[in-house]
Amino acid sequence: MSTSVMWFRTDFRLADHPALRAAVDAADQVVPLLVLDDHLWGTGASVRRSCLAQLMQEFSDRIGGLHVVHGDPAAEVVRVARAAGADTVHVTADFTPYGSQRDDDVRQSLADHGIDLVRTGSAYAVTPGSVTKADGTPYRVFTPFFRGWADHGWREPAPAVRDVAWTRPDGRSHQIPDAAVPDGVTLPEIGEAAARRRWRDFLDSDVADYADTRDLPGVDRTSRMSVHLTWGTIHPRTMLADLAERAGSPGPDAYARELAFREFYADVLHHRPDSAFGYYDPTFEQMEYDEPGDDLKAWKQGRTGIPIVDAGMRQLLAEGWMHNRVRMIVASFLVKDLHLEWQHGAAHFLDRLVDADLASNQHGWQWVAGSGTDASPYFRVFNPMTQGKKFDADGTYVRRWVPELRDVPDQHVHTPWELADPPADYPAPLVDHAEERVESLRRYQHLKN
Ligand code: FAD
Repeated sequence: MSTSVMWFRTDFRLADHPALRAAVDAADQVVPLLVLDDHLWGTGASVRRSCLAQLMQEFSDRIGGLHVVHGDPAAEVVRVARAAGADTVHVTADFTPYGSQRDDDVRQSLADHGIDLVRTGSAYAVTPGSVTKADGTPYRVFTPFFRGWADHGWREPAPAVRDVAWTRPDGRSHQIPDAAVPDGVTLPEIGEAAARRRWRDFLDSDVADYADTRDLPGVDRTSRMSVHLTWGTIHPRTMLADLAERAGSPGPDAYARELAFREFYADVLHHRPDSAFGYYDPTFEQMEYDEPGDDLKAWKQGRTGIPIVDAGMRQLLAEGWMHNRVRMIVASFLVKDLHLEWQHGAAHFLDRLVDADLASNQHGWQWVAGSGTDASPYFRVFNPMTQGKKFDADGTYVRRWVPELRDVPDQHVHTPWELADPPADYPAPLVDHAEERVESLRRYQHLKN
């Protein structure tokens, strides 16, 4: 009997899974392996850890048990593959800086024992690095990338695997650890079945109006598929195939474009791994920033006194998710009103988001901070009150998350301090936006001179 190993990381699904398909085709039986290393499992009580624990358990139950080991993948994967007598270990190619280095190390360790690491597919419709300008250099701007990406195209979803002959090598499989959900957080339904259900519901109801509603946090009709894409419980190609059946309509077309944003940022990070934690545009390293203190705490707790910012930060604490428009507003506030480096905010997001994704998060932050690709110019400073009035005109979103403002009339819900008698239990604004905008521009000018 020949054996292969399927090493799962953040690809907890059976459908449209090219690497699993390859593992099944390569051998008579397959070891479903999961390696809990410090990077995947992490430390602290993050939302990410809770999601991972739930997903591992759900997936393990479905397939009759994941073979779980702890430790350094370069040692553990070899140990398991040898114990199982496997000739090949299969993975979905990982394009994060850590993941690609880890896989190179594992490939080397396996090769020392005559075992192949086979990387098949990725978490993207188009593999990062495949779409380049005519001169072979990477795109730095989304719109031309998007055209190149669409022209490049992608494969059909991979054929489903049925009746996999799973096997576990002798030797102890560790228990899947528990990870308590941090206080106050309600996780969404996760897992492959939940991803499918959510996607079908979205296709049946909200995709048609997506182009009109996607920017309105109070309406709350975006797909919320980000958590499923982050954890690989659905493949974007599956989604693009469904969208293709509806192509030519504004909603589905706008949605496909957003999926391309995710692919763009993965591509950017692939070419510039240093931009995961450093400035994509290094000029911004020289900017004058403040040290984080109580203002960062107030931002994290949703107590800045700026309603739309607080609503967003409280949604993040409660749901592990925040509407995209509001992510931009709170990020801009941190960088341009509080004058903090984007990395402080991005780290909090990575800790708290159910859809935490290194490429989309860090580059979403850098875009707002003006230091990223395609960056909104630094001097275009978001005014959180104007943004609130424009995208949450009747204050539905703010009232949902900031109960202190429930009874404030619409015209003051984004500026409660203008009331003769503002709600006593809601903080006064931490900063004066007009003043901080001027200060922000002063620092920017200084940088330019
Ligand atoms: P929908 O509007 O339904 O969009 C569909 C899908 O398109 C999303 O699930 C996502 O995969 C993709 N998408 C949409 N907008 C973007 C975008 N601007 N950039 C990249 N992909 C996009 N997205 C993450 O998945 N993980 C993150 O950690 C993350 N951090 C962000 C941080 C900041 C500061 C900003 C401004 C954006 C961030 N985004 C992140 C992008 C975006 O906010 C989320 O993908 C989106 O809000 C998820 O909700 P949804 O699935 O309902 O989105």
